[in-house]
Amino acid sequence: MSAVDPIANLRDLIRCPSVTPAEGGALSALEAMLSPLGFTVERMVATEPGMPDIENLYARLGTTGPHLMFAGHTDVVPVGDEASWSHPPFSAEIEDGEMFGRGAVDMKGGIACFAAAVARHIEQHGAPQGSISFLITGDEEGPAVNGTEKLLKWAADKGERWDACLVGEPTNPDVLGDMIKIGRRGSVSGKVTVHGVQGHAAYPHLADNAVRGLLPLAHALMHPRFDEGTPEFPASNLEVTTVDIGNPATNVVPAKASFAFNIRFNDTWTAETVQAEILRRLDAAAGDQTLRPGRDKVRYEIVWAERPSHVFLTRNNALISSLSGAVEAVTGRVPALSTTGGTSDARFIKDYCPVVEFGLVGQTMHMVDERVAIADLETLTQIYGTFLSRWFGDAAVS
Ligand SMILES: [Zn+2]
Repeated sequence: MSAVDPIANLRDLIRCPSVTPAEGGALSALEAMLSPLGFTVERMVATEPGMPDIENLYARLGTTGPHLMFAGHTDVVPVGDEASWSHPPFSAEIEDGEMFGRGAVDMKGGIACFAAAVARHIEQHGAPQGSISFLITGDEEGPAVNGTEKLLKWAADKGERWDACLVGEPTNPDVLGDMIKIGRRGSVSGKVTVHGVQGHAAYPHLADNAVRGLLPLAHALMHPRFDEGTPEFPASNLEVTTVDIGNPATNVVPAKASFAFNIRFNDTWTAETVQAEILRRLDAAAGDQTLRPGRDKVRYEIVWAERPSHVFLTRNNALISSLSGAVEAVTGRVPALSTTGGTSDARFIKDYCPVVEFGLVGQTMHMVDERVAIADLETLTQIYGTFLSRWFGDAAVS
């Protein structure tokens, strides 16, 4: 049967140069793996004014529940300096037990292994008692506007419903079996601009230095901590990411200064309450007279970045334990259940069904010489296969 070999699957996918927004043949290669297995494959093109059209793929096997979704992306980040690669980034060459290529671990490798696991499951047990679907986007590494979010809505509008989702992103820091992600922190960004009065540096009483207003505001956002963390999440953390004044003159007091920030927040907060806390801190600091004695409150404005990422935590025991149990059965390692790291497309999926993430070792993702151990491809395929048996077994009896 086709697609049972994750190495061949991954080779076919890597050889498609699918740098966002290009489809590059990657979805066609996946379709060629899934169609012979009996999947109904649909290609959905998402559009947005001013942005390139993006091709996405939705494939389903089976018509009944329970329904398991595997989610991921075939687009990849640019290769960077191609001359620095040991092997051409879209050639999938193997050397010393590793396959080289852009997307090897992030995350064509995860897709290759899941397709192989499904193919083997069908070969050994026949079609699952329920449904399996692939929800694969070509817009994860880009703006993620024409990707998973629209694909989910498109499928849901047609009546698709899911009981659980596994995202195949590379979640393991060092060794296969290290870590399952069961949630993600939220993320909010913004830019604060402080207004003062321009003047001569030798006559500061005639001016109002915007930098003196900026400093207490920026400090107030970074200190004290927003919280001490929760059982499942690390402490929320805000970083000022840039300070922009752009004043080339040493004898001029600037009238305007701005800074940008990003906060990664845990489930103590929602995007809305964390924004309210940020405003409260800015307002309190604006009245601080330390750096501007005798002055009125600091005049500032804030612009929030579009689309905050919402925090989420998955508590679905059947999903977590069948995956965790599969990892342990195959690798002998008990994976940590983690909420660390950046955001992922799981933030969109959580609105439709419980979602967890597990894939390859992420060490070389986005780097020159991105590569995957051939042995890991076989191991991950076995983990996914064991997970399929356990999840469908559990879901059938529960
Ligand atoms: Zn990825």
